Amino acid sequence: MTEQPTADPNSFAEMDLRPELLRALSGLGYEEPTPIQREAIPAILAGRDLLGQAATGTGKTAAFALPVLQRMTRNRREHDPMALILVPTRELAVQVSEAIHRYGRELGARVLPIYGGQPIVRQLRSLERGVDVVVATPGRALDHIARKTLRLDQLETVVLDEADEMLDMGFAEDIESILTETPKTRQTVLFSATLPPRIDKIARKHLRDPSRIQMGRESTGEGETPLVRQSAYIVARAHKPAALGRVLDIEAPTAALVFCRTRAEVDQLAEQLNGRGYRAEAMHGGMDQAQRDRVMGRLRSSTADLIVATDVAARGLDIDQLTHVINYDVPSDPESYIHRIGRVGRAGREGVAVTLAEPREHRMLKVIERMTRQPIVIEKVPTVSDLRARQLELTRSALHESLLEDDLDSYRVVVETLTDEFDVVQVALAAVKLAHEASGAAADEEHIPEIAARPAKDSRGSKPAVGSGRGGGSDGGTRPDSAVRGGRRGGASDPGMARLFVGAGRIAKIRPKDLVGAIANESRLSGRDIGAIEIADRFSLVEVPEDSADEVIAALRASSIKGKSVQVRRDRGGR
Ligand code: AMP
Repeated sequence: MTEQPTADPNSFAEMDLRPELLRALSGLGYEEPTPIQREAIPAILAGRDLLGQAATGTGKTAAFALPVLQRMTRNRREHDPMALILVPTRELAVQVSEAIHRYGRELGARVLPIYGGQPIVRQLRSLERGVDVVVATPGRALDHIARKTLRLDQLETVVLDEADEMLDMGFAEDIESILTETPKTRQTVLFSATLPPRIDKIARKHLRDPSRIQMGRESTGEGETPLVRQSAYIVARAHKPAALGRVLDIEAPTAALVFCRTRAEVDQLAEQLNGRGYRAEAMHGGMDQAQRDRVMGRLRSSTADLIVATDVAARGLDIDQLTHVINYDVPSDPESYIHRIGRVGRAGREGVAVTLAEPREHRMLKVIERMTRQPIVIEKVPTVSDLRARQLELTRSALHESLLEDDLDSYRVVVETLTDEFDVVQVALAAVKLAHEASGAAADEEHIPEIAARPAKDSRGSKPAVGSGRGGGSDGGTRPDSAVRGGRRGGASDPGMARLFVGAGRIAKIRPKDLVGAIANESRLSGRDIGAIEIADRFSLVEVPEDSADEVIAALRASSIKGKSVQVRRDRGGR
């Protein structure tokens, strides 16, 4: 972190947030601000513009939402919004709205997401009733501005969230147009995972003497990171408990510390893990020292296998026998990652650090890799058959041990009587089955969809990750909202990219950003993963990474582009 606007406050209360917000945060189980929040909230509260480098997972949403809500009159009555938050995708619009709604519930904050794809009538009605905060994708925001159904005269704050992604999706002009409609007196906050020159250009033009927050700038000397095998699994939130269960089954840690973000998550996860047969103990900031000591005692004496904890609760914990650190979520900053995994891999022993990341958090892993200068290997979530194989292997080694160590004579009579009737191998098989079932091997049949690592650009905004095969030519530059994106016509796809045929084109008023928007909304790809786009009169061609092609086709077929369902398939060429 660089340039601290004020001394970093250690708690939300020290930031002088109003009691309604403090109660909301405590209800959500947030124990302390994340580093981004520590720096951004005081600066925004002080009225400064802000340019922040922050990826998903850093807590950036609360960093801009809390100051906006701090200023709102309780049960505000004005008709027009006081804050406008621009986001690249529908998914993010919904997510950010929900977060603000949760933080601002007691204040009666009226939050409205508006995005393309949703019937405009519904949005019109909500806008008519009056709103405090609008969270919008740029295209749809402009539609409403043009219809005069979204009026911006009362705006105090404008937030550009995931600005680099919005530029990637061709929204540069729309953002310009929207900003010119907003009051000169507004406060502007810009968050972006990467800070390439074009973001700087926007910041110079539209932000006034912004406070700058940049992550990942502190150098962590090589050699400071301990000997730790680091891996990560990309998994959707809904499948995280099952994925963690499987990873633990495969890893079989002697003692593990599982980190969660919030108190609520700690309690819930500890319960779920107990349901899976682990002896898991919860530990969070709401517990006193004696309770924490008791939990530690249980881990030390091996009456517990896992401690599920928040960062606050785990501070100062020193556990010798720890073999695994598990990040149930990507930590909110690289420093905290390094600090967490530093708890294993001591005294020359190799420790293991496992991180579960949601698809959108993939970039945060890249930031961490850069800081630690160590690779984090993306692994596949173990499948049900991997688990079965592993469980059988455990049964086999238990039997092997028993054959070597135990005095088995007292069981001889059972085998001998049964072999009068059955073959000895049959008898052995039945015995193995019973032993296997008695070992508590979990029956886990949940289907966890495989998600390939997202081929995102690295966080410096330079080149795309190797293998992403992005359409040539326009990386890092402005993304022209023209008929051809990526600069190639008609040629073969890049290796690693598949070309899709979309049955709508110029006549249907399809623009590149409509395609990018639809794909980014409906699949896990982001704007920058999408390659060349070509728009003809009646159809369009768009390149996507080969390993995501089927997912994108299925998603687009199930949805609509500019309100119409369109034909989507792999391009066979030769038209
Ligand atoms: P974001 O980077 O804004 O997408 O936030 C990532 C996740 O962190 C969300 O699930 C938030 O609910 C959570 N979060 C944000 N701030 C905090 C905090 N101070 N403590 C715990 N969790 C947080």
